[in-house]
Amino acid sequence: MNRDDFPILQTEVHGQPLVYLDNAATSQKPQAVLDAILEGYTRYNSNIHRGTHYLSQQATMRHEQARQTVADFIHAASAREIIFTKGTTDSLNMLAFSFGEAFIRPGDELIVSGLEHHSNIVPWQMLATRKQAVLRVIPLREDMTLDLDAYRAMLSPRTRLVSVAHVSNVLGTHQPVEEIIRLAHEQHIPVCIDAAQSAPHMPLDVQALDCDFLVFSAHKLYGPTGIGVLYGKQALLDQLPPAQGGGEMIQHVRWSGTTYNELPYKFEAGTPNFIGSYATGKALEYVQAIGMTRIAEEEAALARYAEQQLVEQIPSVRIYAAGQAKYGAISFNVYHDDKLIHPFDIGTLLDQQGIAVRTGHHCAEPLIDHLGVSGTVRVSFGLYNTREDIDRFIQGLKRAVRMLS
Ligand code: PLP
Repeated sequence: MNRDDFPILQTEVHGQPLVYLDNAATSQKPQAVLDAILEGYTRYNSNIHRGTHYLSQQATMRHEQARQTVADFIHAASAREIIFTKGTTDSLNMLAFSFGEAFIRPGDELIVSGLEHHSNIVPWQMLATRKQAVLRVIPLREDMTLDLDAYRAMLSPRTRLVSVAHVSNVLGTHQPVEEIIRLAHEQHIPVCIDAAQSAPHMPLDVQALDCDFLVFSAHKLYGPTGIGVLYGKQALLDQLPPAQGGGEMIQHVRWSGTTYNELPYKFEAGTPNFIGSYATGKALEYVQAIGMTRIAEEEAALARYAEQQLVEQIPSVRIYAAGQAKYGAISFNVYHDDKLIHPFDIGTLLDQQGIAVRTGHHCAEPLIDHLGVSGTVRVSFGLYNTREDIDRFIQGLKRAVRMLS
């Protein structure tokens, strides 16, 4: 699909055409996004908001149009609910700080799941420590699905917030967020969805999901690095204090005290990444022109093909969450005579053949511990990957396994 739009895919690595299967870490950028970055700096570069001059107004208009594009992309009720951040990690840290200041008291409880990325663990741990609150964890069942019975039993009048990944960055599996949200809402508990790994791979509708907060990064979605989104329902965002102080987030500053700006600016202290937001808007327009439903279907078919090829062609492969639908990522290990072949060695030998995969703990150490290994090999897909990429990966993996056995 539209491979030629991505100049970097023409790269040769170690004399071989690149096969890029590390999209869960970051995706490559289409020409339209690269053009937008250059265009932004060459034609519209000027600090935004309150500028009386032409360039500032042009840059401001593009920044605010991009905010509307993001709102449309996730089907938010209003662009005021879209806060530009530095990325998923920044969004979660801002939320943890702000929500913690407003709502967390000693003895309160927060819930995450056993398969979270460190970005959706550590900010909540820090908050729990700061406020003497308790972080609870939804356990995983044998088959790597979340134990919803345990979750139901965990919800209590002490629970203040639930924060879970939509799609696991290690397993590639879709979490039952609809049910998680429904059960939390029965007790009026807000839910945050970490959509870092779902936003690039499926249509999102925050109103249909009825999540209270949702976060993602542009760089995993064919956009630039250093920019992401914190979505929140307006009624909740209105109750949260700013996470940072500075320019832009204020209404008036006096020595006697400061009043804060309206949404979303209350949460956007300092000069924002206005070239990044413009380029993010272009990335979202790019995927929407293809259609997120089509992207989801084609990537799901590719993941099925990859998993089937792994099972058929690699003896002693162990796929995690085997047989379950995968959205963008598959994690596995290969064994020889019952001994684990180190994922790093596999990754290195694949790299020598021009094939980029990721190995290790994928910033999800508690999940990797649960799998009982030190790491996995992860292949992850983007809209430009093809069956030929999978075939080259399987051939490369066979060669690597032969050499390491
Ligand atoms: N959450 C999930 C599920 C992720 O996969 C990632 C990145 O891999 C993050 C959060 C953190 O994203 P970022 O590094 O863009 O802030």
